[in-house]
Amino acid sequence: MGVQGKETFRDSIGTIDEDGKRNFIYPKKPKGKLYNYRSYISYLLIAFLFSAPFIKINGNQLLLFNLMDRKFNIFGFPFWPQDFYLLVISMLTSIVFIILFTVVFGRIFCGWICPQTIFLEMIFRKIEYVIEGDRAKQLNLEKMPWNKEKVLKKGLKWTVFFMLSLLIANVFLAYFIGGDTLISHVKDGPIAHIGTFVKLLAFTSVFYFVFAWFREQVCIIVCPYGRLQGVLLDDKSINVAYDFVRGEGDSGRKKIRKDEDRDDLGHGDCIDCKQCVQVCPTGIDIRNGTQMECVNCTACIDACDEIMDQVGFEKGLVRYASEEEIEKKKKFKFNARLVAYSAILTVLMGVLVTMLFIRTDVEAKIHHLPGQTFQSTVTTIKNVYTFKLINKTTREIDNIDIRLESHQGEVILVGGNYIVPKQGLIEGTLFIEIKRTNLSSSKEKIELGIYSDNVLIETSTTNFMGPVLMN
Ligand code: SF4
Ligand code: SF4
Repeated sequence: MGVQGKETFRDSIGTIDEDGKRNFIYPKKPKGKLYNYRSYISYLLIAFLFSAPFIKINGNQLLLFNLMDRKFNIFGFPFWPQDFYLLVISMLTSIVFIILFTVVFGRIFCGWICPQTIFLEMIFRKIEYVIEGDRAKQLNLEKMPWNKEKVLKKGLKWTVFFMLSLLIANVFLAYFIGGDTLISHVKDGPIAHIGTFVKLLAFTSVFYFVFAWFREQVCIIVCPYGRLQGVLLDDKSINVAYDFVRGEGDSGRKKIRKDEDRDDLGHGDCIDCKQCVQVCPTGIDIRNGTQMECVNCTACIDACDEIMDQVGFEKGLVRYASEEEIEKKKKFKFNARLVAYSAILTVLMGVLVTMLFIRTDVEAKIHHLPGQTFQSTVTTIKNVYTFKLINKTTREIDNIDIRLESHQGEVILVGGNYIVPKQGLIEGTLFIEIKRTNLSSSKEKIELGIYSDNVLIETSTTNFMGPVLMN
């Protein structure tokens, strides 16, 4: 991108100084239209994140990732280890979705949806502004000796941060052990569940470390998605971008002076006020072009728009735009590439949602008993099978009956009336007897129907073995 100065900023990151020490960022409190929109969206997302482990659909926790017991619920759909293929498809769809979405829409996710950005910018940073004040006051406080004011403000901030980290850790844990389990463990007290308590303290420490100190370094150093930007973005990707054509003009950016004619002097619209730099939570200058550190938080858009308003220039010097749009002065439009990518994304989502909805609540597996082929009489052939019925619902399934659907014959369930417990499974043995006259080969595919209270709930196929010469 054609901007002023050499691209030496690319040799280092904004949060680490030349000596390799942490350069703590004190961003100015953002304000403006986009910041307000982001705040509303983040409040909704925070409410969702905090409530999801405690919301139930058909008795299933809305979101659950219980790795220990291998129980997973996604939007109330329980996934069993048998549904692993669906999880793999979901993950592949998500990866393709993220890649395609990023190629087209850049890092919009980071600024608007990522929990790291939301928690840091919309909770922890806002609390910091309330306790310590805006950028100038925070910088002053940093320089102060450890007097009463500093001890009180820092002490209060760190205590609130710790309590919040503890709360977030509790909710985070509920996603893994289940909301009900968490509530009962909390009621029982830490001594009764020392393992849960240790995990809770570990998560609290991690969240406290991340939100109180490590902060934007997560996006810059740790997050793999952030590091992928270099390969995913191209000059058509939409990003928070500085319109360097307009901003630099023919003679570059310059501070504004009263009564000067900037057009005559050839200066661009950037008045070098550095407001966009001061609000940036990752400590970069957007005027240097697209950078790995930029989380597309839009704070610089709001800051620059406010300045443009004050000096009477058109808003949008920093805005969502692709490099091509800025360089060739093209207006954003839904071109063939965007339509194609959006169509692929829609199809992928459609396939996944369809697969989720057509997935059965009950799964049946029927296999020949190992080591057994068949028994025969003069008129009939009999095969013996083991069966497994998995109930993925939260209600008991009783009065189980298994019937032969593809052939005339008899199914004999060993052991009588079977009941499949909620979110459980049963195993058993069954015989299938078919008249020789109803068979035409030594190995035939047969279909079985699984009924509960005379209602077909699942079908399954298996092979039926017989002698080579049947008739
Ligand atoms: S450059 Fe702008 S959009 Fe990017 S992180 Fe900084 S303030 Fe946010
Ligand atoms: S806020 Fe706008 S005018 Fe001010 S330095 Fe940044 S880009 Fe230039």
